[in-house]
Formats: sequence, structure tokens, C-alpha cells
Amino acid sequence: MSDASANQTTKFQPRVFSGIQPSGGLTLGNYLGAMRRFVDWQERGLNEGFETIFCMVDLHAITVWQDPEALRRQTRELAAGYIASGLDPAKAILFNQSQVPEHTQLAWIFNCVARMGWMQRMTQWKDKAGKNQQNASLGLFAYPSLMAADILVYHATHVPVGEDQKQHIELTRDIAIKFNNDYGVDFFPVTEPVIEGAATRVMSLRDGSKKMSKSDPSDMARINLTDDADAIANKIRKARTDPEALPSEAKGLEDRPEARNLVNIYAALSGMDVDAVLAEVGGKQFSEFKPMLADVAVAHLAPISSEMARLMETPDEIDRIIGNGAEKAREIAEPILKKTYEIVGMIRS
Ligand code: ATP
Ligand code: MG
Repeated sequence: MSDASANQTTKFQPRVFSGIQPSGGLTLGNYLGAMRRFVDWQERGLNEGFETIFCMVDLHAITVWQDPEALRRQTRELAAGYIASGLDPAKAILFNQSQVPEHTQLAWIFNCVARMGWMQRMTQWKDKAGKNQQNASLGLFAYPSLMAADILVYHATHVPVGEDQKQHIELTRDIAIKFNNDYGVDFFPVTEPVIEGAATRVMSLRDGSKKMSKSDPSDMARINLTDDADAIANKIRKARTDPEALPSEAKGLEDRPEARNLVNIYAALSGMDVDAVLAEVGGKQFSEFKPMLADVAVAHLAPISSEMARLMETPDEIDRIIGNGAEKAREIAEPILKKTYEIVGMIRS
């Protein structure tokens, strides 16, 4: 394209975006792999002068059936979870996706940029659609294109996520690159996935080869942020393990996914590295280690869960906070969408 700005290299300011689906109750996996890290980014953004934007991606949640009342409650509960984990709406932008229509508007453009073959390779699509792809929603298939729009409508440069979302961020990069190439611009940043920390992939308590998920049909597979001390202790006690004692070094966990998962969770919650944990618990049986893990989990999660319950007593206040967040988000998204339409050749009279 002949736009003068087309060939100049744009310098993108750092900006952080991430989202969580209100598709059920929050899990320990969401907390360790995502939310807790968002709080670190919020503080960094404040110190270094860049924006951090966190979203309840309700439009993603409805790619599988959600009861409307439950969706509303889950969205508020997710907002409460963000705040209880340390996100401060005065420091970061916190809102629900459907209140900022620019996400879906940009997603349509990206539906026309992304290729069928790219989408068909997505492992989340294959896992969630399962054997019954013909009966899955079109939205579930298009999910990663909407996710690319969520990120790029803010020109976000960094996206903190768990390991399972890596492929979707790579697709976001492919979409940005193809858009920039197709239109001869340097308009969308090529976003960096930020997958770091001690718990980028917390596994199911029932199956060490599956990740812990809010939408897992078995509640025993996950620890919810709203579980009370008894429920947490019970789920950890019943967590699948092997009959061996714990090893004293990390390499002893190599072929023991369930043991590794519990040790990783302990390490992430107590802020220790895995070697330090094993130096302490190596040689112990699970019957001794599991109650230790339950204590650490309860000590960590109980204050979050009680703060969430307190916040949920005033749903109007939650709605007010996310409404304000949506206004701030739109201020960033609107001009970026407008410029996108211009680049693509839409008349805006
Ligand atoms: P669903 O089952 O509905 O897909 P989910 O538990 O996978 O829910 P998402 O809303 O899809 O949660 O993901 C929100 C964020 O939490 C993402 O950054 C994702 O990578 C992260 N996340 C999800 N599960 C885990 C996990 N088990 N370990 C670490 N991070 C996770
Ligand atoms: Mg998920």
C-alpha cells in the first residue's frame, strides 16, 4: 500500500494483555500459571510506565455452552478472583471482553487473514472438539483468531500465559506478520509470549498427563480458589500418586508426572525451587508429604477465597469496576481498530 507510514518501522511501546475465561470456577492452575504473574506485571508496568490490561474473556467462554445466569456469576467471580489475587483496578485495566466491541470487530478482519490450515492445527481445538468436530461450534474453531484480536487490538507486546496457550500466541504472531505483509504496513506488533515461573503447567490431580482445567468434568481433578480447607485437604489426599517415596533430586521425578506435579505445586506455592523442596522432603512418603502440601495450599488460598466471597457480596460494585475498566480499554482499542479499517480499505464516513 502507498501510505507514507507503510514502510517505516514502528517502535511499539511495551504493553501487557492477558485474559481468563469465565468458563467455571478459577483453579490453582489459573492462579499459579496466570493470575499471580499478572500481579507481578501490574507492578512492573507501574514502575516502568507501561499499561497492563487484564480481561474476563466472556466471548471465549460461550464457544462451549454456558448457562446465562452461571456465566454472569462466573464473570463476576473471576473479577473478584483477579482483585483478591492482587490486581488493582486503579493500577491495571480490568474489564470483560464483550463490553469492548472492538475485540470482535478486529476478530472478523483476522478471520479473513488467518488460514483454515493454521486453525486446524490448533491442539486446543482438537482437544476441546474431540471426536465430534462436526458438532463443535464455529466459535470454538475461530477462538484463536478472536484471541489474536484481544491482544492486537491493544498493540500488546507481551502476553503472560500458561504453557497451554503458547500455540495460540504463535498463531497471533503469524496473523500479525501476515496482516503486515499483506497490506505492506508495520502496524501490528509481533507479540512475545511470556511463559515463565515455577508453574506454567499445573497438571490434573487425577491424571498427571492432563492439565488442570476449570472445565474438567471432575471437580476432584482441580483445586478451586473457592474450595475450603477440608475440600483442599481431601482433594490432595485423594490425588493420584505412585507408591514410591519422594526422591531427593529433581531427576528422580522424571518419569513420575503425578509426583512431579505435586512437588511443583508445593514449590510454586512456597516460593522455593524444586531442588530446595526435595532437599527438605526427599525420602518422605506421600502420606506425609500430602498434608504438608495441603497446609501450604490452604495458607495461601484461604485469604484469597475469603476476599473473593466478600467482594461477591456487592456485585454492583464489581459491575461498576469492570464498566470503568471497559471505558479505559476502549480508549486504547478504538483508534487501533479505526486505523485497521483504514488500512484494509473500509470507508468510514
Ligand atoms: P477451560 O478449561 O475453560 O479452558 P482453563 O482452566 O484452561 O479453562 P483458561 O481461561 O483457558 O483456563 O486460561 C486462562 C489462563 O490460565 C491462561 O493463561 C492459561 O494458560 C492459564 N492456565 C490454564 N490452566 C493452567 C494450568 N493447568 N497451569 C498453568 N496455567 C494454566
Ligand atoms: Mg483453557
